[in-house]
Amino acid sequence: MTFEWNAHRFSGGVLALDLANTVVFRESPERSLDRFSDPAEVTRFAAAAADFRQGEWGNVKFRPPLSEREITGLIDMREAINRLFRTAVHGGGLSPAPLSEFLRLGSKLVGDEPGDQALALPRPSRDGGRISLAAASFLSGVRLFEPLRLERIKVCPNCHWLYFDESRNRSRRWCDMNVCGNRAKARRYYDRNAKQMGSGHG
Ligand SMILES: [Zn+2]
Repeated sequence: MTFEWNAHRFSGGVLALDLANTVVFRESPERSLDRFSDPAEVTRFAAAAADFRQGEWGNVKFRPPLSEREITGLIDMREAINRLFRTAVHGGGLSPAPLSEFLRLGSKLVGDEPGDQALALPRPSRDGGRISLAAASFLSGVRLFEPLRLERIKVCPNCHWLYFDESRNRSRRWCDMNVCGNRAKARRYYDRNAKQMGSGHG
């Protein structure tokens, strides 16, 4: 089965976090997995993101990186987004070093956009247009600075993805209840049974 950029892969809820989530298990380096280790996946991600992020971006197409330099720019932005918001979730707020790095890289990406490009923070009513995937991810991240948005970012305890919790009372515990929530439930069930079986032999 080929790898599919389905709804689950876009559990981040906003483009910036979806991009960071192209690496799985970020907090367990030995299990960590980078979906972009195959460069073809970057282009497939950009196409899928235009569909799954219409609620954030409207009818915008994301231009995938074309040159080696652009690919490096995208990966650097991805890592800067991850550091900035992961630090924030773990209680560091928007810390100076990752914030400065994020803005520095973003400034460069925005400067590389065509001069006639109308750049704006993402909005669902936007109709048409193209923007580089990296610059769009930067602008998506900038929108999260607002404190009421920042406090809705969480880390999934199962896969370590960052996600934006839009539930009314911020009660979402998993990036995706149907995947990570169920996996955790199955593990608890298995552990409990294993324990009971074990005690039966005592
Ligand atoms: Zn998860």
